Amino acid sequence: MSIEKELSLRSGSSCEICGSKEGLEVLNVEPNEGRTVHTSVHSCLFCKEQIEGSKPMNVDHWRCLNDSMWSEHPAVQVIAWRMLDRLKSEIWPQDLLDMLYLDEETSKWAHAGADPSSEGINHVDSNGVTLSAGDTVVLTQSLNVKGAGITAKRGTAVRNISLVSDNPEQIEGKVEGQQIVILTKFVKKSG
Ligand SMILES: [Zn+2]
Repeated sequence: MSIEKELSLRSGSSCEICGSKEGLEVLNVEPNEGRTVHTSVHSCLFCKEQIEGSKPMNVDHWRCLNDSMWSEHPAVQVIAWRMLDRLKSEIWPQDLLDMLYLDEETSKWAHAGADPSSEGINHVDSNGVTLSAGDTVVLTQSLNVKGAGITAKRGTAVRNISLVSDNPEQIEGKVEGQQIVILTKFVKKSG
C-alpha cells in the first residue's frame, strides 16, 4: 500500500493537524532515515504551506493544535511541537508547549528539525537581510581587529562566513588570513 493510502486510512481522510478534508497531501517530516508512513503526516495544503514557511503564518489557525498535539502518532506530535515552538511568543502556544509531553526519541526528532530562527537566533546584516553560513559579506566600515593587529578596510569581502550560534550579533570569517569575529551590524550581504 502506498504511504498516501496508509495515511488516508490512519487519518480517516482528513488533515491530521487541523481536521480539514480538503487538499490533503503527504507531509514528510524531516529528518528521517527514509520516508515511511511513520515519518509522514496527512496534511492539508493550508497547514503544509505554513509549516514549510512558504505562506505567512496564520496564528489563529494553529489553535487546532489544542486537539492534534494529543495525537498518538509521533510525526504529528513532532509537527505540533515545532509549530508551537515557532509560535511561542504568544501565550497560548507557550501554554500548550508546556503541556506537550514527547518521549525521548520523539523529542530528539522534533528538536533536530526545529526552525533555527525560533530559538531567537537569527543573524541579519545591517539591512536586516538574513545571513546564512557560507555567505559572502562586505564590511560597511573599517574595523580595527583587536588582538589580530589588523585593520579590515571598509568594502573588504569576507567569504564563507560562519554564524556564531549563540549570538545573533556575531559572525566569523577570514580577513587577511585570520579568522575573526565580526559584528553583523557592520556587514552587508553580497550578491
Ligand atoms: Zn490542516
